[in-house]
Amino acid sequence: MSAIASVIGHGNPVSAEPRGEPGAELKAELSAWLDLHAEALDTDSSRAADVLPQLAKAGLARVGVPDALGGSGGTIGDAILAIAAVARHSLTAAFVLWGHRTFIEYLVQSDNETLRDRWLPALLAGHVAGATGLSNAMKYLSQIEPLQMRASPSGAGWSLAGTLPWITNLRLQGFVVAAAFEHECGAPPSIFAIEHDAADVARSADLDLVAMRASNTAALSVNGTVLDDASRIASDARAFLVRVRPAFLGLQCGMSVGLAERALAEVAVASAGSRAVLAAEAADVEAQLAGQTKQLLDGVLDGTFREQPAALFELRIALAKTVEAAVALEVQASGGRGYLRGTGATGGTARRVREAAFIPVVTPSLVQLKAQLAAYYDGTAAR
Ligand SMILES: Cc1cc2nc3c(=O)[nH]c(=O)nc-3n(C[C@H](O)[C@H](O)[C@H](O)COP(=O)(O)OP(=O)(O)OC[C@H]3O[C@@H](n4cnc5c(N)ncnc54)[C@H](O)[C@@H]3O)c2cc1C
Repeated sequence: MSAIASVIGHGNPVSAEPRGEPGAELKAELSAWLDLHAEALDTDSSRAADVLPQLAKAGLARVGVPDALGGSGGTIGDAILAIAAVARHSLTAAFVLWGHRTFIEYLVQSDNETLRDRWLPALLAGHVAGATGLSNAMKYLSQIEPLQMRASPSGAGWSLAGTLPWITNLRLQGFVVAAAFEHECGAPPSIFAIEHDAADVARSADLDLVAMRASNTAALSVNGTVLDDASRIASDARAFLVRVRPAFLGLQCGMSVGLAERALAEVAVASAGSRAVLAAEAADVEAQLAGQTKQLLDGVLDGTFREQPAALFELRIALAKTVEAAVALEVQASGGRGYLRGTGATGGTARRVREAAFIPVVTPSLVQLKAQLAAYYDGTAAR
């Protein structure tokens, strides 16, 4: 039984019928598309425009969003499972869904109803891409670096300036991105939603990535863009980030869950000889993954991770180790075939090695989390 299925099968707190697993027909169509293009999504940007529409067509942007807001209901746990389900096929697509769904979560949790009403329908339908440029803000929250964006008063609003070097899902066809700004007047930093065609907004060319090249990852500059309160997601960035961090990180952990699960599934279909040798190790990793997945879903739903962020930091680190172990087992199980392009047990072993390399890098990175945990335990950390 898979890690996710075993959680669901043993009293998953999310729902008996997880909405993260879309209906069979949609699931089959999306799975087939992802399997067909997973290598290309990783190695070139030719299908970058198609990823979000495919995910949205399968209803994944709506998972865990209240019905009253146009979603398909369920919880953030269901949205995590949806990202895991996509990551089983393609981490590039799962990361696009992470950025998109995380931006949607900002709007769901924002007090700014006008902003929510303005953007949510187009985001849920996948007509506009949601992006989260909050790595810098998350590092700021952990006292690692200052905010790189500045806001100065301008008429009834603020003039915004600065550059964010890495943002995913900056879809060329249209996006809206969250970024945090330091206020020159001394007010607390706040978070704005910046749309792609606002004046003085510039998206760079796609970054020349070694992998995940269809993720629409680019730098974004604003240079005198004027926005007012109607475009503010949160007027107090620090309080808002603490509030959304469990969802931000929890959705990210969905990528680890799905990737590890797929690698273990590949071990399970390897040749009988290698399977027999690796069976005990694979069973250990699978049990770890099932336990961590349950802890993840329980923690995001029962408020544990808001009260004890360190527990979520530890879980994100533990899941990264599980991914590493699962992919290492897949490499061993696949043998030489895994080293040939387009082959491997059922294909994709080398790609999953590259995908696994991304897991420790994404903000908050493992280095950052380890530093943050050390500070928690010696009592010097900010929340
Ligand atoms: C493909 C891709 C897509 C990305 N998409 C997004 C996105 O959509 N949105 C977004 O906001 N960001 C995104 N990022 C940015 C990503 O999250 C960064 O890699 C991350 O912010 C680390 O920044 P850096 O590489 O500049 O780290 P550096 O500043 O060079 O630091 C190296 C490592 O050490 C850690 N570190 C540095 N100083 C400290 C310290 N004092 N204490 C503890 N740890 C420290 C950093 O977190 C990092 O892990 C993306 C990156 C990649 C590769």
